[in-house]
Amino acid sequence: MVDYIGQRLGNYQLTRLLGEGGFAQVYLGEHIYLSTQAAIKVLNTQVANDEGWFRTEARTIARLVHPNIVRVLEFGIEGSTPFLVMDYAPSGTLRQRHPRGTRLPLATVTSYVRQVAEALQYAHNEKLVHRDVKPENMLVGRNNEILLSDFGIALITQTMGDQGIQNVAGTLPYTAPEQIQGKPRQASDQYSLAIVAYEWLVGDRPFNGSLTEIISQQLAVAPLPLRASVPTIPPAVEQVILTALEKDPDKRFNNILAFALALEQASQLDTSSQQINQPVEVDLAAATILPSSLLAASVANELSAVKPPEPPSVRQEPASFAQAKSQAAPAGTVIARYREHTNAIRSLVWLADGKRIVSVSNEKTVHVWDATTGNKLQTYQDASDAARLVARSADGSLIATAGSDALIRVWNFTTNLLIGTYRGHQGQMVNAMAWSPTQQLLASAATDGTVHVWDANTGQPLTIYRGHTGSVAMLAWSPSESASPPGHGLCIVSGGDDASIQTWEVTTGKTIALYRNQPAKVLGVGWSPNVYTLSPGASTSSRVGCGRADGMIQMWDTTANREVLSYRYPAPVSFVVWSPNGKRFAYASEDKMIEVWDTMTNRKLVTFTHASPPRVMAWSPDGKYIASGGDDTIIQVWVAP
Ligand code: ATP
Ligand code: MG
Repeated sequence: MVDYIGQRLGNYQLTRLLGEGGFAQVYLGEHIYLSTQAAIKVLNTQVANDEGWFRTEARTIARLVHPNIVRVLEFGIEGSTPFLVMDYAPSGTLRQRHPRGTRLPLATVTSYVRQVAEALQYAHNEKLVHRDVKPENMLVGRNNEILLSDFGIALITQTMGDQGIQNVAGTLPYTAPEQIQGKPRQASDQYSLAIVAYEWLVGDRPFNGSLTEIISQQLAVAPLPLRASVPTIPPAVEQVILTALEKDPDKRFNNILAFALALEQASQLDTSSQQINQPVEVDLAAATILPSSLLAASVANELSAVKPPEPPSVRQEPASFAQAKSQAAPAGTVIARYREHTNAIRSLVWLADGKRIVSVSNEKTVHVWDATTGNKLQTYQDASDAARLVARSADGSLIATAGSDALIRVWNFTTNLLIGTYRGHQGQMVNAMAWSPTQQLLASAATDGTVHVWDANTGQPLTIYRGHTGSVAMLAWSPSESASPPGHGLCIVSGGDDASIQTWEVTTGKTIALYRNQPAKVLGVGWSPNVYTLSPGASTSSRVGCGRADGMIQMWDTTANREVLSYRYPAPVSFVVWSPNGKRFAYASEDKMIEVWDTMTNRKLVTFTHASPPRVMAWSPDGKYIASGGDDTIIQVWVAP
């Protein structure tokens, strides 16, 4: 098969392969003049440039304009290779979002079915039949909407007479009996969509096996009722799906939209059905009771400690700490240094008592130490490099550690239980983790660009956000619903390699705002932890901010949804964080500096220097101190302004 990477088709330079189907390859392309991105579908067929039927078909496809249909931007024949240019969907297909075997909540299924049915009803009204309705041809748009693709492509390639066996193989499990017999009609699309819905609700397609087995089942075997596999599916919902799956097209719903509406109605008859079919990505069996008396000890068990835990040492506060406390030492005064790590610091958190810090570093150890003295309390060495990140719940009771084995372990800090292990990121690297401000929800971001929000007690995933097209570097929660953009519940801001900052609603996974006016990677993001008044009489608002690889620091008001500050620092800004009261904003940069600003006056209050670039920092719970560390392996605790 020809590889077109680096080549030019029409006005597009093809940069990478997005995927391959039965009769085409799809590439990501960049417009050579406009730099815009598009998906270029290169058909595996050759046609003569003057083949009129091909142009006629192309026109038919390009004529379709609908919010749930992928826009076709251009058609061309390069040499004798036909290609078409369509909108690029960075979030991929519904097949990629929900791999085979995934069961979806009923509400999600009805929403998907409704959107696809709207698109198909529009096409049917235009006298077109899709013929290839399946999750691979449902793309996820920028606002999480579903976009049906490959309209008429099936027809084109069929007309060309070289519909290969692989192509049939991908499509056959969804193909209606009359279409298999060569008589496709509008009701055939309804049948295919019903197979897709069945698959999402049950976790498996009704007909599987070899090609001949599938064909004979499509033609003559009744599908197994859905409730035989999943008894929690409401009977009315099952009835709607089975009607759309009637072998006789005349017995199905009058039109495809009627099918979607019937499904919505049936699902609303029974609200308890919202709870069915959660994807299972959790290992609750990992909730083991460990006999030891400290979280530290259970971490040690789990991480297969090389060194035995040392007893916690209680020491007197050194003069500098007492002094700092009593005499209000100037901002930037170091009160403790922790020197026990031997490699770059990766992550650190203050425990709820405001006295202890848990830190992890590249030497693969987890340390618990006294923030007031810099004295080590516990260290745990981990042979499998399990600990790269650490996060603490808002109430201080739970700790999560994430490793390069992609597992996140949740620990109860007071009862010494390993609550469970989250495995949803398998095969990825977890870059960032943050707890919700109120509930026991954890958000974790990974190199594949997804952010997972899940219940820390049960491991149940709540939302998987896929708005990013590159690795997500950092995320932060809105501190409360009132700090979220108006009309929305708790939100998350995330940013990373795709250079965009995105705010999105946690429960719905809906993108609320997308800020992307700088081309540089986003290294740090934060959400101001309070709702404050900008000026007397003004309404309250909250901000998200970011630091970028080109040194750009930007802030947006999430209420007014506009940029309120942008500032270019001379070096890459790798970490940003707000003080607990929201009045200070700190950022760390590649030139070894940390600067702290007053967010009301936009004045710099203090500059703190490390020997090497700082990578992480955290405010103490009372807002009085900052602990920061990075490549120089030393964590410093210093007085915050
Ligand atoms: P079929 O050939 O029956 O349509 P298919 O959809 O798997 O099967 P293609 O249409 O050739 O095959 O697409 C191949 C893959 O390319 C898709 O599965 C999808 O992952 C990716 N892809 C296609 N179109 C786009 C697009 N507009 N934006 C992003 N990715 C796309
Ligand atoms: Mg396709």
